[in-house]
Amino acid sequence: MTLETLAAVIGSPIEHSLSPAIHRAAFAEAGVDWSYAAFDVAEGQGAQAIAAMRVLGIGGLSVTMPHKHVVAAAVDRLDPAALALESVNTVSWDGDDLVGSSTDGAGFVAALDDEGVDVADSRVVVLGAGGAAKSIIDALGRAGAAEIRVVNRTAANVARAVVLAEAAIEGGKADVSEADIVVNATSVGMGVDLTHASVDDLPCSAELLKDGQVVVDLVYHPLRTAWLDAASAVGAHAIDGLGMLVHQAVLQQECWLGTRPDPEVMRVAAEAELASR
Ligand code: NDP
Repeated sequence: MTLETLAAVIGSPIEHSLSPAIHRAAFAEAGVDWSYAAFDVAEGQGAQAIAAMRVLGIGGLSVTMPHKHVVAAAVDRLDPAALALESVNTVSWDGDDLVGSSTDGAGFVAALDDEGVDVADSRVVVLGAGGAAKSIIDALGRAGAAEIRVVNRTAANVARAVVLAEAAIEGGKADVSEADIVVNATSVGMGVDLTHASVDDLPCSAELLKDGQVVVDLVYHPLRTAWLDAASAVGAHAIDGLGMLVHQAVLQQECWLGTRPDPEVMRVAAEAELASR
């Protein structure tokens, strides 16, 4: 058995990761001889996992919390997004070198593109300033968004996020009404069943949303959130968080195999996995 055709996700906890279902479905559909594992790697052991990848010759890694920052320091090179974010979600080989990439932000832009939404020249409000928000602020800047207003509960975290793109500045909730694209990049709404959702499960007042806007929720569990329901109710184009998850995985497989998997196959696998929980 060779480990060159093994990819795996490292993180902790890892049992709820959708990555195995998504990647395995795409490998099977493409008929490639790759397999995908999930390794629970305890906090503080991320660099050792990268050392193990080198020694064993594992073909590729997905990296999730709490290792994204540690792995950025443990690989040989970083792609531009990973360098800016000091965070890695993908490790792949380039000859004998390990390259760390961050595909979340580019996955977000690709997911919107899939829905016919071009972020170039758009005015975007990003609600949240955590890891996911930073990834998309960086990617929106690279993709030419005209203005990125970052709105977050904790001001210190906004300051750390707006430095990632020239077009990014601190905003307020009132800016939501003026935006072309509004993104919930907070964890508000995560794990809240629609039948039990209240106004506390919305990242901002639904009254700020407008007909014709693009409204994105990065939350994908549940797939249909109260925020997306509110967006659809006013006639906005509502986009769920699974598109970003799928497209960051598409980009991961491009890093590992050099070929593009089918996003639709990945999405179907992710939906089936979510439905089974
Ligand atoms: P972080 O913990 O890094 O950031 C959480 C963010 O949510 C912070 O801005 C935090 O604000 C804000 N927040 C949390 N609770 C509240 C609250 N009650 N009211 C207002 N703001 C709040 O998490 P991530 O950035 O990693 O993840 C954020 C969400 O994005 C999660 O739901 C996650 O599942 C989802 N996600 C989706 C991905 C996808 O592919 N679709 C990829 C990655 C994440 P503060 O700074 O004030 O604490």
